Amino acid sequence: MTKKNAVEKHGFNPNTVFEDILAGKLPAEFVYKDELVTAFMDIQPITDGHVLVIPNLKAATLDELKPEYGERMFLVAQKIALAMKASTLASEGINFFLADGQAAGQTVYHLHLHVFPRFKGDGFGWKLPERYYSPPKMNILKEHCEQIKKTMS
Ligand code: 5GP
Repeated sequence: MTKKNAVEKHGFNPNTVFEDILAGKLPAEFVYKDELVTAFMDIQPITDGHVLVIPNLKAATLDELKPEYGERMFLVAQKIALAMKASTLASEGINFFLADGQAAGQTVYHLHLHVFPRFKGDGFGWKLPERYYSPPKMNILKEHCEQIKKTMS
């Protein structure tokens, strides 16, 4: 995809700092690298040990991510998560987080899987909407389920 097309498609500049990190133009602390993915420390960690796992082949959003890269991202994230627990960081729990698109909170448009340690009382949490406390009836869940299944390839 050309830069112009990408800007039109996504509404943002597709060049990100992560390409510069992959190219060695920007410094980063690398945790892992193979032919498909790279993992490095997040510059603004939510908790100590926060890592980002990214595909080496640029994919701005999920629709651009080739399945083999997605598979490897998850496998590597799992390895890193287990290492975080076994290490002296003594992670008590782990969160994976991936933001796809602006509405989901994505700020860097080179897809990335956040892997970060969790500790009791670390201050991180989800802000849940009011509707969460009044769950829908099963027929509504069925309707949503059908909507998703219809467009699944
Ligand atoms: P998003 O909001 O897109 O899910 O997450 C973007 C993440 O990239 C943030 O956690 C942010 O701290 C991290 N980040 C942004 N710029 C840099 C950078 O130059 N180096 C590193 N290592 N992380 C960055």
